[in-house]
Amino acid sequence: MACLRTVSYTVIINGQPAPPFVAKKGLRQGDPMSPFLSVIAMEYLSRLLRGDTRFISCLHEKFRLFSEASGLVANTNKSAVYFGGVTARVQQQILDILGYSKGMLPFRYLGVPLSSRRVCSPGIAGGLNITSIAHWNKAAACKLLWDLARKKDKLWMQQFSIKAIYQSIKGPVNKVPWYKIVYRNKGAEKWIFTLKMAAHGRLLTRDRLRKWGIDTSPVCPICLLEDETIEQLFFRCNVTGHLWNKLLAWQGVLRQSLDWQGELAWAIEHCKGRSRGAALYKMTLAATIYYVWHRAEEIIIRRIIQEIYYRATMYPKIATYITQFDNYPS
Ligand SMILES: [Zn+2]
Repeated sequence: MACLRTVSYTVIINGQPAPPFVAKKGLRQGDPMSPFLSVIAMEYLSRLLRGDTRFISCLHEKFRLFSEASGLVANTNKSAVYFGGVTARVQQQILDILGYSKGMLPFRYLGVPLSSRRVCSPGIAGGLNITSIAHWNKAAACKLLWDLARKKDKLWMQQFSIKAIYQSIKGPVNKVPWYKIVYRNKGAEKWIFTLKMAAHGRLLTRDRLRKWGIDTSPVCPICLLEDETIEQLFFRCNVTGHLWNKLLAWQGVLRQSLDWQGELAWAIEHCKGRSRGAALYKMTLAATIYYVWHRAEEIIIRRIIQEIYYRATMYPKIATYITQFDNYPS
């Protein structure tokens, strides 16, 4: 660890950097640390564990030794023991030996904000499906300790994977109510992406742009009558509302267009199954959102239907189904 002692720190006091001082212990809690360093240190812990049978109390003792050797001291207030498949009686015995409190899954790690949970949710939960590095780290660390411990003790050990721990830390997945509309949609990727952003309420409609301080006209550029919001654009706007009415009628859906929350709720309620009608409806909704949003000059029903026809060639049942809609709108 000698190489770690060459580091020096300085502290900003009243806006001025104080004289630098040399680090004595190399690493402090919260410092970014190479996983390799962690592995080197853990190897020492692993060697200490070898050859013991009275596992828990020995483990505690080895932690103390490890702590003295490495300078890494566990904060008992922040430490907890996590159990899996252990009886309450044995749990209490272990807690008595260690003096730590009992942890419950899922837990927060280094104050990871709740918003990262959403980012890291699977697609069906409305997230972007990016693995949380902090959560994954924690899971990997759990797995490392687990592997070390497993060598010696059978009492509270069970095989499990980093992935399982990761999912456990992350907590249960709550599917967004509209996941079938977005994720079981046979539409083109670009349509679905726009539909997903709309379902998340993340499209940068003019009301949101203005809230962000961007200088832009608030007025809907399609009808030039009302201020543009997501509810207005889909489909309270009399132009897009009229367009959607025609596309609803084209599919044989006999109702008038609603606002966005109403449309989403209607789709969730009526497109639960795998019927051809539901598939067609979801595709058409995605295409309409896309073309209205992109305000292509060709926001015309003919273009939308043309693309739907094209995509339907890949799904013969839908293709046959579509042919019955002969009221091709003009
Ligand atoms: Zn409008």
